[in-house]
Amino acid sequence: MKEGFSLTGKDAVLFDMDGVLYDSMPNHSKAWSIAMDHFGMHMTPHDVYMNEGATGHDTVSRISMRDRGCEATQEQVDEIYSYKAALFRSMPVAPVMPGALDVIRKVRLSGRQVLIVTGSGQKNLIERVQRDFEVARDHMVTSFDVKRGKPFPDPYLRGLEIAGVSADRAVVVENAPLGIRAGVAAGIDTIAVNTGPLDDSVLESEGCVMLLHSMQELSDWLG
Ligand code: CA
Repeated sequence: MKEGFSLTGKDAVLFDMDGVLYDSMPNHSKAWSIAMDHFGMHMTPHDVYMNEGATGHDTVSRISMRDRGCEATQEQVDEIYSYKAALFRSMPVAPVMPGALDVIRKVRLSGRQVLIVTGSGQKNLIERVQRDFEVARDHMVTSFDVKRGKPFPDPYLRGLEIAGVSADRAVVVENAPLGIRAGVAAGIDTIAVNTGPLDDSVLESEGCVMLLHSMQELSDWLG
């Protein structure tokens, strides 16, 4: 944690999507749990939140190794992830996270660039976020845009490339341990917003510069 951290000298803010801009993690958690049960594996809410930010492919591979002791084939991964994605789409629309619209507005008003960097491959939410937050598709990085997802730094490095700024002039906003790890690995000061059930210490141990508990709190911090 950095004492007295501020946005001075920062030109771009890179936002994660699920659990930051949308209160979508409860739906993801249910969908993963049902899908994994259907295919003879098991994911608790804690498992879902600990894997949050990883691509669907990486999540299925990790749980397959743990529960079945073997790698999932590409075909199995595709089948399980499609099943989970369909369940997610059938659920009630996830609400915008309270305070998130204000945060984006304030960042833009301050003259900084806004980018979205998500491990998601949920096309419906990727389309919706462009409308709700007025972010162009070319200012988004999704699971379709990088080979290696979070916790690798690749998605955030791609975000820096798009923004045309160096790591020290950017900030990441994340809610998940693997997401914070990715931001930190990209060399970017990362703000944790703990909107889920994990202990603060789990997020803090990944090296965030500060930790808040809601997007509303982040909005208030921005002033
Ligand atoms: Ca997230």
